[in-house]
Amino acid sequence: MSEVKQDPNATQNQDEKSNLLKNSSWFEREVPSVFVPEENKTKPTFTEPTIECPECHALVTVTAMSFNAYVCPQCDEHLRMSARDRLNWFFDQVNQELGQEFSAKDPLKFVDSKPYPKRMEEAQKKTGETEALLSMQGMLDDLPMVAVAFEFDFMGGSMGTVVGDRFVQAAEYALKHKQPMICFAASGGARMQEGMLSLMQMARTSAAIERLHNASIPYIVVMTNPVYGGVTASLAMLGDVHLSEPKAMIGFAGKRVIEQTVGERLEEPFQRAEYLLEHGAVDQIVHRHALRDTIYRIVSKLMNLP
Ligand SMILES: [Zn+2]
Repeated sequence: MSEVKQDPNATQNQDEKSNLLKNSSWFEREVPSVFVPEENKTKPTFTEPTIECPECHALVTVTAMSFNAYVCPQCDEHLRMSARDRLNWFFDQVNQELGQEFSAKDPLKFVDSKPYPKRMEEAQKKTGETEALLSMQGMLDDLPMVAVAFEFDFMGGSMGTVVGDRFVQAAEYALKHKQPMICFAASGGARMQEGMLSLMQMARTSAAIERLHNASIPYIVVMTNPVYGGVTASLAMLGDVHLSEPKAMIGFAGKRVIEQTVGERLEEPFQRAEYLLEHGAVDQIVHRHALRDTIYRIVSKLMNLP
């Protein structure tokens, strides 16, 4: 004869249920909750890699994000774009990449927690770029232009000698061919591993911009999140026109450092693009989707083109 096996837990559960029904009136009975705990919720599944929006936490596929120029389709947050994506998106046609011949040296033999060459190597592996500034020449519609973009993921977009070299070379190219120059700034400032040589790039780049001014070649700066330190104190604040993406953080010293120095709390939107627009350091805040058209219009106007 076969024995019917019973789950002891099931019997116990049934007993508990019947006791509950017997001992309590209907309004005292426990009703299963309609609230679904976070961990039990079914999450949407994607077959391709996704990016989480830092603002609204929506998951968006990389393809959708890149198609939307890395602006969150849900909340319009402007996510960081890599320098290469930025320039490829900006130009209708890239004719050449400039400045690839410059490579960083380690003149101070600088070591902090790691030797400088080791840091460089890691940054190169992480970003696939050789330095923190990319420089390209191409066409925006029918206008030839030179554009540089900072790669923030490369040691915080810090300005060392190679960044200076590439920037000056791009400016010289713009000067020689009478083409406007656009700079997409995103940087933490000077590169401390190169000490004084890094600070000297502030003067070098400022002098190159001065040569553009003297030749009436437009130099437009687009501030993207974030722009700080020696880059703010030189090439990012010397444009003929300063555009900024919404909510970009722009300053010299960071907010926390200033708070500690002046002993005051600085409330939002301190150091945001919107605050700088009110105080005259930024001329216009432009949505990323309107940037190309805006730059085209400004350049055409400054160069007296029809
Ligand atoms: Zn979002």
